Amino acid sequence: RAKDMGKNAYQFFAQDMNSTNTQQFSVQAALRFALEREQLYLMFQPQMNLATGQLCGMECLIRWQHPEMGAISPVEFIPIAEETGMILQIGHWVLQRACQVAQGWREQGLQVPKIAVNLSVRQFKPGILVEQVATVLAETGLPPYLLELEVTESLIMRRINEAVEIMNDLKAMGVSLAIDDFGTGYSSLSQLKYLPLDILKIDRSFVEGLPASSDDTAIAQSIVAMAKKLGLSVVAEGVETLEQMQTLRDAGCDMMQGYYYAKPLSEIEMGQFIERVSA
Ligand code: C2E
Ligand code: MG
Ligand code: MG
Ligand code: MG
Repeated sequence: RAKDMGKNAYQFFAQDMNSTNTQQFSVQAALRFALEREQLYLMFQPQMNLATGQLCGMECLIRWQHPEMGAISPVEFIPIAEETGMILQIGHWVLQRACQVAQGWREQGLQVPKIAVNLSVRQFKPGILVEQVATVLAETGLPPYLLELEVTESLIMRRINEAVEIMNDLKAMGVSLAIDDFGTGYSSLSQLKYLPLDILKIDRSFVEGLPASSDDTAIAQSIVAMAKKLGLSVVAEGVETLEQMQTLRDAGCDMMQGYYYAKPLSEIEMGQFIERVSA
């Protein structure tokens, strides 16, 4: 249902995008309105550590509850937000909200693991992003080691020099860095060593084929092996079945995220999840 709505919304907006500037403004206005009217909210998906069986992190995923169009997927509206530049305000809001929620749980006495926020390449602006992250951490009181920032491979590689500098500054602040959707971009594996990364997230498209596809199994195994040699932790995304979990575990994958463990949860549900698993 939500997916259908998202598609309609995308067509609606995509049409706007392709026509006049005036209409482009209206898309921007709709997103700005969404932000102001609190139609945007976050869901939180647990990440589990296999070795310990513990909750080791969570990823924040944005949602748009539109009054007429219903739930619109980030897959539909994030690209439009990127094109119109609204991603800067939305990205800032996500960062603030994520840190605020995590700190709120801490203040309730919960044992909060790292919280991962997705960043768009447009947010990777020299002189802006690092300051923004520092300010949000200072204002919310969340310790930097509890914040993880996810960026996609293709986005980083497009502006590698600029990105590395910003990543180094974030790293120096104590924030963790993850490369998202790994395996889907065009970067050579050797370029990874230039990035100050902590975590590599294997894209769901490779996990989907496990264990039936021997190609996907080989790809997943070699990504895990390579990541480990580079000293990175590995999170597999989109783990849905026991067999996928076992294949990844046997390949040496540290951490997993997916419907097999939990779907993205609301703030309240995530708080309860943390409470339950750390009890
Ligand atoms: P992503 O960062 O790769 O996030 C993982 C996506 O996989 C999420 O989709 C999540 O709900 C979905 N997923 C998790 N486990 C499973 C599973 O077991 N099976 C299946 N089929 N799917 C699973 P979602 O929430 O629709 O987000 C899609 C994408 O939108 C994200 O991909 C990310 O690229 C982007 N996105 C989401 N929130 C934000 C945000 O706050 N800022 C930015 N810039 N992008 C965001
Ligand atoms: Mg992500
Ligand atoms: Mg991903
Ligand atoms: Mg993905």
